[in-house]
Amino acid sequence: IGEPSSDWREYQGSPTGTDIECEGWRQEAALRLLNNNLDPEVAEEPEDLVVYGGTGRAARSWDAYDAILDELRDLDDDETLLVQSGKPVGRFRTHDRAPRVLIANSNLVGNWDDWEHFHELESKGLIMYGQMTAGSWAYIGTQGIIQGTFETLAEVARQHFPDREGLRGTITATAGLGGMGGAQPLAVTMNHGVCIAAEVDERRIDRRLETDYCMEKTDDIDEAIELARDAAAAGEPRSIALHMNAAEMFDGFLERGFVPEIVTDQTSAHDELEGYYPSGYTVDEADALRESDPERYVAESLDTMERHVEGILAMQDRGAVAFEYGNNIRGQVETHRGLDTAFDFPGFVPAYVRPLFCRGKGPFRWVALSGDESDIHRTDEAVKELFPDKEQLHRWIDLAQEQVSFQGLPSRVCWLGYQADDGLTERARFALHINDLVADGEISAPVVVTRDHLDAGSVASPNRETEAMRDGSDAVADWPVLNALLNCAAGADIVSVHDGGGVGIGNSLHTNNHVVLDGSDLAARKARRVFTTDPGMGVIRHADAGYDEALEEAADSNVHVPMQED
Ligand code: NAD
Repeated sequence: IGEPSSDWREYQGSPTGTDIECEGWRQEAALRLLNNNLDPEVAEEPEDLVVYGGTGRAARSWDAYDAILDELRDLDDDETLLVQSGKPVGRFRTHDRAPRVLIANSNLVGNWDDWEHFHELESKGLIMYGQMTAGSWAYIGTQGIIQGTFETLAEVARQHFPDREGLRGTITATAGLGGMGGAQPLAVTMNHGVCIAAEVDERRIDRRLETDYCMEKTDDIDEAIELARDAAAAGEPRSIALHMNAAEMFDGFLERGFVPEIVTDQTSAHDELEGYYPSGYTVDEADALRESDPERYVAESLDTMERHVEGILAMQDRGAVAFEYGNNIRGQVETHRGLDTAFDFPGFVPAYVRPLFCRGKGPFRWVALSGDESDIHRTDEAVKELFPDKEQLHRWIDLAQEQVSFQGLPSRVCWLGYQADDGLTERARFALHINDLVADGEISAPVVVTRDHLDAGSVASPNRETEAMRDGSDAVADWPVLNALLNCAAGADIVSVHDGGGVGIGNSLHTNNHVVLDGSDLAARKARRVFTTDPGMGVIRHADAGYDEALEEAADSNVHVPMQED
């Protein structure tokens, strides 16, 4: 990938303020978001262009990064730049309502759609792993996932511990304190619970301690158990990072007869070579083994994953609530180790999130391009003004203001959905209001609204977002393709389509969009269309699969679903 670019060294994050380098704010937004993804405060390994999620990159090489910046600086308001796996490959005159940037990352033809081909092409410099929001320049650090993790755990509490206040008095054991997984300890304590999180890389632990996502660390499993038990007994929130391999942690729990109430995992198990660490090595030793003998690394990594899954299953057998947190660890162990019980614990989407998807609800986020925190605080007020009756949303905004540190450009995440009122969806109402605040100067510079690829109508992923669909349509990838096409038709400013993401190459296809709210009428028209059609895809996708909640939402919100009986 070459040596880090001098532009990147100079920026050290996104440019901020109201002066722009590009021809317009739409292009400037792309330039700022790309640099925000690579902000050393935001990205996990920015010198290697790695943003998060194993090897999820923002650009294919440092030369490609420089070339993208040059193209964006020169891009007219009626041109569209094409980015193929992190490299700019073309630029065409289109029109001002069309997207400014179109991105396709990591996509392979069916029969070639596996890690082996991907790594072969990657070594020739022909492709890049875009993960989800890494290659689409929508990553905003651990703050981006925190609300999703918070909401999921709140739902775990509602379903399994209805008599408690959230997770109070319970212990959640998990692993992986990387870009996404690092949100887990804070999401547990925000729900009043206690968390033990195993992590092999002490630098990752220290990063979570520095940013207050986690409270303390130890490398002694007995100490971790004792601290956790004491805090749970006292009903106090506490989070403990345990510096050890996840598989070893679960073996240790079994030996000691310790069973936490909840078990899950967010190691980068989707990638057995570059994401997951085998047991028996320090991080440096494992990194050296990966270089010297990748085949042995993969074999040992998969052996550890099998132990890890067996550990989770053993915890479940002893009464713990277990769920997979979207890293495909079950699929990996079933496919590569033939463990036919791997799927005996559920994925988090069918267990906790699908009812929200049926209503077009998903993680919706926005970024203040000014870099000014007060702009986000103004948007926080706007959310509360617009949705006065949504208590959980207000609680989230208050908690986020108190406990979530900004990383890079100030940003906020909320789960908003379709739920049309007067023909305007929740997401459209919010975006139009923010656009007005930008126009009135109450917000100092444009705001970009974007979302995770994990959303209601934007992804096909049989081991995660579309696991166990009611009609068996888990692997049908027409839906994300239609979603990306529709986002272009509706005029989103950046649209992307990726293969892989959180569950690895060949296991999912998903899309993303951005709309730049610069206070103009054009932005308002785009926002109104995109934030109707995009969550609308979630409603129709789930209605088509026969979910009652989606059919109800379609009826209540007047979403046209052809071929439905009523
Ligand atoms: P990351 O690569 O930044 O972090 C993974 C962490 O796991 C690293 O810190 C690594 O040191 C640690 N690790 C790896 N193997 C380990 C082991 N055996 N024991 C203990 N620690 C180990 O990745 P991330 O961005 O945090 O994402 C983690 C996983 O979660 C990925 O597979 C990702 O695709 C998935 N994910 C899920 C969701 C979701 O919504 N559920 C969202 C994003 C990511």
